[in-house]
Amino acid sequence: MSDSEEEVPTMELKLPDYLPLKSELMRDFEKSFHNRTIPDIIKVQTRQIQEAAEKYIQYVLEHPQLDFDESILSSFEKSLENLIRSEFEFSKLEAIRKNPSVSAFASREESDLTLDSLESYQNITKPNFSDVIEEQYLEMKSPKYSKGYKDLIHKHKFYNYLNDILFVIRNPEDQIPDENEDEELNVSGGKISLKDPLSLNYYSDPVRSKRCKHTFERSNIEEQLKRGEASRERITHCPIAACSQVINRADLEADVLMIIRIRSFQRLHNKTRDVDTVI
Ligand SMILES: [Zn+2]
Repeated sequence: MSDSEEEVPTMELKLPDYLPLKSELMRDFEKSFHNRTIPDIIKVQTRQIQEAAEKYIQYVLEHPQLDFDESILSSFEKSLENLIRSEFEFSKLEAIRKNPSVSAFASREESDLTLDSLESYQNITKPNFSDVIEEQYLEMKSPKYSKGYKDLIHKHKFYNYLNDILFVIRNPEDQIPDENEDEELNVSGGKISLKDPLSLNYYSDPVRSKRCKHTFERSNIEEQLKRGEASRERITHCPIAACSQVINRADLEADVLMIIRIRSFQRLHNKTRDVDTVI
């Protein structure tokens, strides 16, 4: 018998279906999923964009000879949208980490796979960590989760404010569509009056009552308030016949969207008049 004929015991080196996650990998996973730096950066950037946009809007409002630049406002809007999307994507990762089937891995005490422990893993049939994560991630693509993004967008006050401003610049006389309604159902399309209901003149300094959201020319509603203060009741009812609210000086605020409507309307109107004069 030669050496080469000596029988070598065959050992089946087949990897088990279930592979325990190496403990350092699990620690890395936990560390990266606990990372709070990303949401903090998103918050800071959102605030910076909002402040810059507010400054820009304020500046143009204070300088009536200036026009709102749609591309500037759109880029503010787009940046906010990207940040809201990142926030949403991050919240999905958080949800994956907190999912019981994923977090169970973090608390599981398993020995790493070695030649010695190989056999004990052969008979285990349960999903691997990567499969669980993948399954969770696919689940996040379902419409149920993308609704979460739309909800975030709808809840974001400043984003919606920018959206409204862009809309009234382009459509100064149109009602802002209600984004929360189904687009197909939203067929209102009513016109917005750019005239003060008290004098029937175009607004130049519109103010709105926070209580009932009715808008008036400042000097005209102030006249009414003076009269109200001098009256026996000492109150001023909203001059809109169908409105049962009381108007108070403290509730009046500049109606920024109406100011922008008026300015955009005048700009569009003047442009067509210029064209007419040329012809
Ligand atoms: Zn009112």
